[in-house]
Amino acid sequence: MSRIVHVNGAYLPESEAMVSVFDRGFLMADGVYEVTSVLDGKLIDFTPHCVRLARSLSELDMQNPHDDADWLEIFRQMVARNDLAEGMVYLQVTRGNPGDRDFAYPGPEVSPTVVLFTQSKPGLADSPAAKVGWRVISIPDLRWDRRDIKTVQLLYPSMGKMAAKKAGVDDSWFVQDGVVTEGTSNNAYIVKGNRIITRPLSHDILHGITRVAVLRFAAEAQMEVEERAFSIAEAQNADEAFITSASAFVMPVVEVDGKAVGAGKPGPLVARLREIYLDEMRRAAI
Ligand code: PMP
Repeated sequence: MSRIVHVNGAYLPESEAMVSVFDRGFLMADGVYEVTSVLDGKLIDFTPHCVRLARSLSELDMQNPHDDADWLEIFRQMVARNDLAEGMVYLQVTRGNPGDRDFAYPGPEVSPTVVLFTQSKPGLADSPAAKVGWRVISIPDLRWDRRDIKTVQLLYPSMGKMAAKKAGVDDSWFVQDGVVTEGTSNNAYIVKGNRIITRPLSHDILHGITRVAVLRFAAEAQMEVEERAFSIAEAQNADEAFITSASAFVMPVVEVDGKAVGAGKPGPLVARLREIYLDEMRRAAI
């Protein structure tokens, strides 16, 4: 089925949607993005994605082409026009098309390029992977130092995903200075007893929208939360481990660098956290 995509205000069949070869997103990876999940035809945790988008744009001195109310209307149009029940809405804003290639940014006369498309994923919330858990390997974190900005510079995370694929596992965890930063496209956590341990926010990691919600729900469920970095050895000796992202939600991690975490299968705390997260998010979806 052909999707309806959004390009700069127009809703078009995907085969008719076009962006210039001079767009700085294409030439320079000069752009930012957001991925918002949809369950039961409704947007999950929408407002924080708008807040992070505005921050990413502002950190890069880019204009925000819409206010939050306009974004909501555009997202809702995308869900409706694509009859999306379960899946994701992808949004990308680039610095636009200056008509030539130049390292210097263009002036304010060049408008940002806005692209949205949907990805239908029936069964997203009932993922079989969540029942068996992910296996991960570790690789050095060779990304730039502003990982808090959600840019479309995703080559190294793609390389990390390919390294995982080659090793026959599900994902890679990035390691810097002997401790885990995050996964290729998710935040990383370990569990010891009733305590959840995850790296504190800084420029070193993306400030996950799912992370904020999950840590809040964990505290409300009387779980302890400790924000500090952990090593691969510590993860291998933890009781449970998991990752969070807007599209994987809360996903158990059962093996790190070939060593089983805990019993080598999804544990009770992570299963409970996933259930709480999905219940609460469905309830608050808009
Ligand atoms: N870290 C990285 C590097 C990511 O790419 C993502 C997902 N985009 C996350 C963490 C998780 O963020 P969120 O919960 O907002 O999807």
